[in-house]
Amino acid sequence: MPDSHTRPSFTADQALERLKAGNERFLAGKAKFPTVQKEVLADLAKGQAPYATILGCSDSRVPPELVFDAGFGELFIIRVAGNVLGPTIAGTLQYAGTHLHTPLFVVMGHEGCGAVQAALASKFQGVEHRQHIETVLDIIEPALAGLDPKLPADELMRAAVEANVRWAVRQISESPEGHLTLSRGDIRLVGAIYEIETGRVRFLED
Ligand SMILES: [Zn+2]
Repeated sequence: MPDSHTRPSFTADQALERLKAGNERFLAGKAKFPTVQKEVLADLAKGQAPYATILGCSDSRVPPELVFDAGFGELFIIRVAGNVLGPTIAGTLQYAGTHLHTPLFVVMGHEGCGAVQAALASKFQGVEHRQHIETVLDIIEPALAGLDPKLPADELMRAAVEANVRWAVRQISESPEGHLTLSRGDIRLVGAIYEIETGRVRFLED
């Protein structure tokens, strides 16, 4: 990870608008970043100043740079199954906050998430998974506490995906450091859901 102390030149609100505009271009088939130029790479070799940090899922159908039509050096991205907040993820977020100073943090889940589905099966049907997969599911499980297992499967899944995003957002914002950072007012943390069929990102801004 190259070190950089250049501050991003966007506010949190501007960063969010930029993500929304990028997703609109992506949806419209008007993406601007199909490739990268040598001059851009040379410039980025000096350091990075991404304007948003994104915690997303490893799912091959949800690549943040493409979904937000973002170029090299724009997004600091963590991808892990189920967009779960484990210790090394928290460390990576801390790096983004204290060294890169990204003004915007996004936890982005997605419809049809296999990790969330597995966590539901584990919680409500007692399905067992292999050891390291269980580690991921254990982090998701508290998010599912308020869900009604009698809901139709697709509704339950949608609710679980959103609950999992809100759970990660809450874990970050209620941690002592997260609370302190967010109370400054110039940093924003938002949840988002990627709609797998449409390609649209729905931000949970309430
Ligand atoms: Zn997923």
